[in-house]
Amino acid sequence: MQLNDRLAALAAHTGALIAIYDPGGRIAYANEAFREAFFLEPDETPLWVDLMRRNHAAGRGPRVSHPDFEFWLSSCLSRRGTMPSLSMETDLLDGRWLSITESTMPDGWMLFVGCDVTRQRQTDRLLRQERDIAWKFAHTDELTGISNRRHVHTTFAALVERGRGVGEALGCVALLDIDFFKQINDRFGHQVGDDVLVEIARRIPSLLRTCDAFGRMGGEEFMLILPHVTAQEGLAILGRVLDHLRESRFVPDDPTYRVTCSAGFTTIHPGEPMEAVYSRVDRALYEAKRTGRDRIVPLEREPAALA
Ligand code: GH3
Ligand code: MG
Ligand code: MG
Repeated sequence: MQLNDRLAALAAHTGALIAIYDPGGRIAYANEAFREAFFLEPDETPLWVDLMRRNHAAGRGPRVSHPDFEFWLSSCLSRRGTMPSLSMETDLLDGRWLSITESTMPDGWMLFVGCDVTRQRQTDRLLRQERDIAWKFAHTDELTGISNRRHVHTTFAALVERGRGVGEALGCVALLDIDFFKQINDRFGHQVGDDVLVEIARRIPSLLRTCDAFGRMGGEEFMLILPHVTAQEGLAILGRVLDHLRESRFVPDDPTYRVTCSAGFTTIHPGEPMEAVYSRVDRALYEAKRTGRDRIVPLEREPAALA
């Protein structure tokens, strides 16, 4: 078999879509896979624009990404053949995805090669989904379903980062720890303890704004990040949270049992390292516990540290 015949046989055999356009944009050759995808009869040699128009009118062939078909067509035409090689991904109305390369010679003859990449696209999508699920899993507290320590840190870091160089406070942060939680476990059992944590995690976010972050740092300790509020506003929000906990009844077996919480509170200043804020709010929480529990202790940055 001559090489030309061999080439023709291979082109007829391959699943790749192959076509050759003359310098006027008319199809000079199209293999079977191309003809099947673009609805071309064996003896037809239409212009590329006419082939596109015909398929669009029949609701088949490539998906057109613009509401005005003629606008889309002339935009494609203006780019077509202007570069030695142009690659793109396009989808057909039958759901297939094609990876296309158009190679144009200086005299205007063009080789079109398209490969079906539908399966790769699906694999990519599955991988992206799995990555998203893994990310969510890594940032969620298993027991309560709210943000975990890692996600609280990410939120905190993003807030601090965003505020670099700004002159005002970035917002406020509070660290909350349930009072005498061990007693709940001891009196009612570990399961009731778990239920209380889940119920708290379910209720608190409804008292907050969308931009606020509430996460479980571990055990019976939670963190609340309140962006763009003054200390006064932040303390009011935190006050509502503590009031709500105190007034709720979390233990069905003992409706008189009250769950209270202690909280440290502080303001976040631009440029402050996260560790400094965390250490301050942790000290504030310690003070709240030491001075009697069921209270908020605000602790602000030393004036000497303001520079
Ligand atoms: P304080 O007022 O000083 O905070 O007292 P406390 O009893 O809350 O604090 P302590 O740190 O002594 O005890 C915390 C308890 O929380 C001990 C631990 O068994 C319990 N705990 C931590 N994580 C969980 C959990 O996921 N589920 C349950 N049921 N209990 C937990
Ligand atoms: Mg506690
Ligand atoms: Mg604790």
